[in-house]
Amino acid sequence: MFTAKTYLLASSLEEAYDALQKNKTNTLVAGCCWLKMTRKRIWTAVDISRLGLDSIVPDGDTLQIGAMASLHSLETDPAVKGFAGGILSEAVRRIVGVQFRNCATVGGCVWMRAGFSDLLTALLALDTTVCLYHAGQMPLDEFLTSPVKKDILTHIIVRGGQRRAAYVSMRLTETDFPVLTAAVSLLGEDWRVVLGARPGLAARCERAENALGTGDRDAAIQAVRDDLRYGGNLRASEAYRRQVAGVLLARAVEKLAGEGAAE
Ligand SMILES: Cc1cc2nc3c(=O)[nH]c(=O)nc-3n(C[C@H](O)[C@H](O)[C@H](O)COP(=O)(O)OP(=O)(O)OC[C@H]3O[C@@H](n4cnc5c(N)ncnc54)[C@H](O)[C@@H]3O)c2cc1C
Repeated sequence: MFTAKTYLLASSLEEAYDALQKNKTNTLVAGCCWLKMTRKRIWTAVDISRLGLDSIVPDGDTLQIGAMASLHSLETDPAVKGFAGGILSEAVRRIVGVQFRNCATVGGCVWMRAGFSDLLTALLALDTTVCLYHAGQMPLDEFLTSPVKKDILTHIIVRGGQRRAAYVSMRLTETDFPVLTAAVSLLGEDWRVVLGARPGLAARCERAENALGTGDRDAAIQAVRDDLRYGGNLRASEAYRRQVAGVLLARAVEKLAGEGAAE
């Protein structure tokens, strides 16, 4: 469990940002689901829960999701459920349990840039922009590869509500961390194919996207096996993940074709 010397319930983003810069151990606390697993020694814990950052605002083909929106709200919000085939709701529903998902936040999930992230896999299959208080807006893939600098993620903007999309994951037990995740989306002839928990960060596979565009599903399956890097950890070996990647892609494509058929 982390410890904090002092606590600041910020009354503005400016106050929160300034507090974060004052001491290198000062840390933003959101749902604390991950932080409480750490032994961090924090000087000031900066809380942004009173800044109204938990809203989910649909606007046509776009969703604006506040950093403090809970993962459970992604499951239950009608606008999110109806957005791009409900892919965001589907991606988070197997993360631990409802009590956990009521605390864990979208901002925490995105900020952590975790390789095992279900949500990042789904967000990469859509057009996602990350909005930071200090650094401004940037595409999610750029954010994921940028050096980490202290900032506040205020919200994300997700475009692509009209895309058809599907999400699947493989887990050893229902609520465990995923062994592998896959998301596909389609608008017109434009496919997105994303594999996550490889166990590295979620990544798109361009050759698989092109193959699906020409209707060659087998080539797409081969491409996700050949082109992406996989690794081994206590949940699965590198070779097993490579094999499963093709299976998950096939399942995701079938699910998309069936418009939400059971996984
Ligand atoms: C036991 C366990 C199982 C898990 N299983 C899964 C799983 O199966 N799939 C999956 O995808 N995820 C899984 N997770 C990850 C989980 O989804 C994240 O830990 C959680 O969403 C983080 O959100 P939080 O609000 O609790 O963040 P916190 O724990 O409060 O913060 C995490 C980090 O993010 C920073 N941070 C938080 N919000 C912001 C912000 N708005 N701006 C800037 N920095 C911020 C904090 O300073 C901290 O460094 C698991 C976590 C645990 C502990």
